[in-house]
Amino acid sequence: MKADSGAQSDSKYENIDEIPIIQSKINEEAGPIVGLDYVSEMQRLHQDPLYQCFLCSACLTSSSSVIDHLYSLKHKMAFLVNSFRSF
Ligand SMILES: [Zn+2]
Repeated sequence: MKADSGAQSDSKYENIDEIPIIQSKINEEAGPIVGLDYVSEMQRLHQDPLYQCFLCSACLTSSSSVIDHLYSLKHKMAFLVNSFRSF
């Protein structure tokens, strides 16, 4: 998600933000959110970003579906199982 990729000056990357678009929505959420580290945002020019949760192998197409996913039982269980595995 880095905007600058070294010596190349590829204009298709110049409008890509380093701060995830979903960050402001996450900041507005009052409830507990877990496993955000496993969600990646793929920004695309002139299109809404795509999101992927690597914990659940879930593909999400909007920021509201990401919020719903983060609160879902499936995601929370996957986070718990993954956390216990690392002990
Ligand atoms: Zn998930």
